[in-house]
Amino acid sequence: MKSESPLVGIFGGTFDPIHYGHLRVAEEIAETIGLSELRFVPAGIPSLRDTPAVSLRHRAAIVRIAIRGNSRFVLDEREVRRPGVSYSVESLRELKQEVGGCVILCFIIGVDAFMKLAEWHSWRELFGLCHFVIATRPGYALASRHYNLPPELKEECAQRWVSSADSLRYTPNGLIFIAPTTLLDISATSIRARIAAGKSIRYLMPDAVLDYIAANHLYSGGG
Ligand code: ATP
Repeated sequence: MKSESPLVGIFGGTFDPIHYGHLRVAEEIAETIGLSELRFVPAGIPSLRDTPAVSLRHRAAIVRIAIRGNSRFVLDEREVRRPGVSYSVESLRELKQEVGGCVILCFIIGVDAFMKLAEWHSWRELFGLCHFVIATRPGYALASRHYNLPPELKEECAQRWVSSADSLRYTPNGLIFIAPTTLLDISATSIRARIAAGKSIRYLMPDAVLDYIAANHLYSGGG
C-alpha cells in the first residue's frame, strides 16, 4: 500500500512588494494540493534580475504583514540570513535537510518564471529536491505540456508532468503539476510604477501592507 507524506510548499520570489497575485495563488495551491505548510522565501540578491527596489528587510517585513492570520503560511527568512546572491537550490537543499526525508517539498512558481528555469543555478538538481507546482498567469499560454519551453527544459520535463495533484503525495520529488489558479493580472512591476506615478495601489494588496509601504515611504523614491 502507498503511504502518504506531508507536503510543504516553498514560494520563492523577490516580493517587491508582495501582492494579491501571490497571495491568491498561494492560498489556492495550498488548498488544491493539500499543503500542511507554505513557506514564503523572499530572495536576497536575485542572480537573474535587477536589484530589488527596496531592501530585503523591508520586503520580508511586508510578507510577514501580508500573511498574518493565515495559519498555513510561514515567512522563511533563510535568504535574509544568508548574505550574497540568492540561489533557490541552496535554500531547497537546506530545507530538505531540516524537514527530513518523509516530508515532500513543492516549489510554487508562476509560469513566466518556470519558462526561464534552465537559466537558474544548478537547475536540474532542483528536480531531485522538490516537485514543481506551476501557477497560471495572465498573458502566458496555458495548454498543459505545450508551453513553449526552451529545448533543454522541455526535454528534462518530458516525463515529469502529472495531471493529478494526488500524484505529488506518492513520489518524493521530480514531478511537475500545473495548478489552475484564478488569473489575476497583478505584478510588482506595475505596482511600483503606480506608486512612482502617485497612483492608487489600493485593493492590489492587503491594507496593512499599504500602510507599511506608506509609513516607510517605500517605492516613491524616499525609501
Ligand atoms: P516583478 O513584476 O517585479 O517581476 P512579480 O509580480 O512577478 O514581480 P515576483 O516576486 O517576481 O513577483 O514573483 C514570485 C513568483 O510569483 C514568481 O514565480 C511569479 O511567476 C509568481 N507570480 C507573481 N505574480 C503572479 C500572478 N499575478 N499570478 C501568478 N503568479 C504570479
